[in-house]
Amino acid sequence: MHSEPAVEVTGLVKRYGPKTAVDGLDLTIARGTVTAVLGPNGAGKTTTIETCEGFRRPDAGTVRVLGLDPVADAAALRPRVGVMLQSGGVYPGARAVEMLRHTAKLHAHPLDVDALVERLGLGSCGRTAYRRLSGGQQQRLALAMAVVGRPELVFLDEPTAGLDPQARRATWELVRDLRRDGVTVVLTTHHLDEAEQLADRVAIVDGGKVIAGGSVEELCRGGSESSLHFDGPAGLDLGSLHKVLPDGAAATEPSPGSYRVEAPLGPELLATVTAWCASVGVMPERLTVRRRSLEDVFLELTGRELR
Ligand code: ATP
Repeated sequence: MHSEPAVEVTGLVKRYGPKTAVDGLDLTIARGTVTAVLGPNGAGKTTTIETCEGFRRPDAGTVRVLGLDPVADAAALRPRVGVMLQSGGVYPGARAVEMLRHTAKLHAHPLDVDALVERLGLGSCGRTAYRRLSGGQQQRLALAMAVVGRPELVFLDEPTAGLDPQARRATWELVRDLRRDGVTVVLTTHHLDEAEQLADRVAIVDGGKVIAGGSVEELCRGGSESSLHFDGPAGLDLGSLHKVLPDGAAATEPSPGSYRVEAPLGPELLATVTAWCASVGVMPERLTVRRRSLEDVFLELTGRELR
């Protein structure tokens, strides 16, 4: 029925004075998918999301959300799009669950408030004023407010930042439920495991552009798919190892005494490396084989850790 994407961003540019926060960003998000937007601090993720939410106007490029313009068609989009605001937009004195019930009543087909409260562990906050809730409770309430109206699309900016593991898991479960109900979810996160757990698609943003996109599996494919690691005495002569490794393989010592071999993985590679260790009289400690993770991809692409 809906062939058009949930979100279509084309050539988005957004400047703050002399600073170009978003620099020609393209992003297409299919309906019914969970997309994680990853990127180092200052990459332009929040600015992009806020533009999709209609809070900022593009300086150039176009943004379509559910086929509409987020600024010009804001009124039409409001009941259809859930936005998780970081504390903004909530009356500090409002009572948590009452506020949620009130929001639910503004929508034609809201979720069951009691079930949502239970799911997010907000039961104990019933009559507590918003400002008296803990940071984690405020955050979960903001999430509940974003989804209670049963939106078609939700934007979640770092939904689990600062949450304890239990609340984090509850949030993940909620995102999975939303997906099951056909809701499109766009989330930013600094947690690669969150993206790996939840996302159908990942978009890696750096310098105001999407520099890579695809499923986690697609992103982790290519390059060196896996690597072999072992510890030994520092400063081993890797030249002699290179001689016995297949063409295109790389052996490095990323930190003293810690070795990494990148090559097509198989029993032969393991045999070659251990035979070489025997030939130089070294017992490889902590020999491990690691598949290329999203973290490796992220590091290779951005040259930075996620935090
Ligand atoms: P983070 O992971 O740290 O939240 P982000 O990827 O969400 O980062 P943005 O918040 O979109 O990045 O910021 C992109 C760039 O624009 C940053 O350099 C930031 O300092 C700058 N910026 C963001 N908002 C403003 C503003 N209101 N005024 C001036 N500069 C801003």
